[in-house]
Amino acid sequence: MSTDFSPVNAADIQQVAVIGAGTMGRGIAISFANAGIQVTLVDLNEDVRQQALTYIQGIYAGMVKRERITQADADACLARFSLSGDYQDIADVQLAIEAVYENIDLKKKIFQQLDSTLNPAAILATNTSYLDVDAIAAVTSRPQQVLGLHFFSPAHIMKLLEIVRAEKTAPAVIQLAEDLGSRLNKVAVVAGNCHGFIGNRMLEPYVFEARRLLLEGALPAQVDNALQAWGMAMGPFRMYDVVGIDLEWRARQLSGTVLEEGSDAEMNVRIDNRLCELERFGQKSGQGYYRYEAGSREALVDDSVNALVIEESGKAGFERRDISDDEIVSRCILALVNEGAKILDEGIARNSADIDKVYLNGYGFPKERGGPMAWADSEGLVGVLADMKDLQQANGNRWEPAALLKSLAADGQTFSSIKN
Ligand code: NAD
Repeated sequence: MSTDFSPVNAADIQQVAVIGAGTMGRGIAISFANAGIQVTLVDLNEDVRQQALTYIQGIYAGMVKRERITQADADACLARFSLSGDYQDIADVQLAIEAVYENIDLKKKIFQQLDSTLNPAAILATNTSYLDVDAIAAVTSRPQQVLGLHFFSPAHIMKLLEIVRAEKTAPAVIQLAEDLGSRLNKVAVVAGNCHGFIGNRMLEPYVFEARRLLLEGALPAQVDNALQAWGMAMGPFRMYDVVGIDLEWRARQLSGTVLEEGSDAEMNVRIDNRLCELERFGQKSGQGYYRYEAGSREALVDDSVNALVIEESGKAGFERRDISDDEIVSRCILALVNEGAKILDEGIARNSADIDKVYLNGYGFPKERGGPMAWADSEGLVGVLADMKDLQQANGNRWEPAALLKSLAADGQTFSSIKN
């Protein structure tokens, strides 16, 4: 299959469809309407469509009330929306963005449907967080027109847009996506196709350390406070309370993932599992790692969660110890840097500045530190490598320093010197 395909210019995109009117679909649709583009939200569930409409109306009413836009502008934006439960209604759109549940079989089914229903020039994008965009593209007859457009939640507010380049995506389609990102007023970063792309792939080892620290002796508020004092907008457990602790738990259940009993990975999710079994899903259920008073988003320490953490770490055989804030920051941030180095080495990111853009605009990394890779460069890679070797000695081989970090440190170079 040729990767030659000349799409319309981003400026000529006038009609898009968003498939799935849930959390992400709504925000994505608002982003397009705000940019002057007609958008049809497709969801098979009529109640969800109605809820989505009410939600969108509420967003614009709020903006008018806060004098962010005029009533006339709000009306003009609202007039750009339509809702539908029928794929035939979107046959003429120039771009469709799928934002249904994170399930590869469902996404493949929808891409087959889009491929057979939409006009041959239409571009098909997925908002998947982790799934294989090549596998999704492969079920269509137009893989050169398939890519990932990974928005962040809430999609009408968060600046970051990860553009995922699948193996067969035409270069012109990537260019269109970058131009479209500007039109939507987003910070767009192109990523290669791998599990979690740039941002979520790096998040995994970061969260791994945060969870492991709970088992070793820390408590959720200590981990969050240490990282927030360092400058992160939100610590990992507060972030999970916002995003929903249950997402990964449900995904594990749906996919039938069974982690090996007693493995590091399995022990690391025991606290999450317990919280989910107690229906402590995060802010949406009024309690998660923290508790919340009715109508408030202030994360309050919950002694029962601390007791649960201590109980689970005992059950997993850990002898709890005092953990310093320095150790928390060092382990979490260096985990980001090491994965970032692998991503750079594999060509998943074009350069280290793109990785930094992802973390600054999508994950609340402190601006004054420049992003994880710029921070590591400014610390000096020789010192970063030495710290990582110490961590490897203390914590085992998950801390094996990335090959690129070793070679750059040996050459007295920086991550910023790499251009893919
Ligand atoms: P959600 O559960 O809020 O919404 C999914 C929607 O898809 C539901 O409204 C459902 O009715 C609809 N749907 C299911 N099957 C459908 C079909 N055949 N046709 C049309 N609609 C259908 O999910 P979400 O949180 O918005 O996540 C959607 C996608 O975005 C997932 O791939 C997720 O990984 C990704 N994502 C989520 C976030 C986040 O923070 N929630 C962030 C970035 C990316």
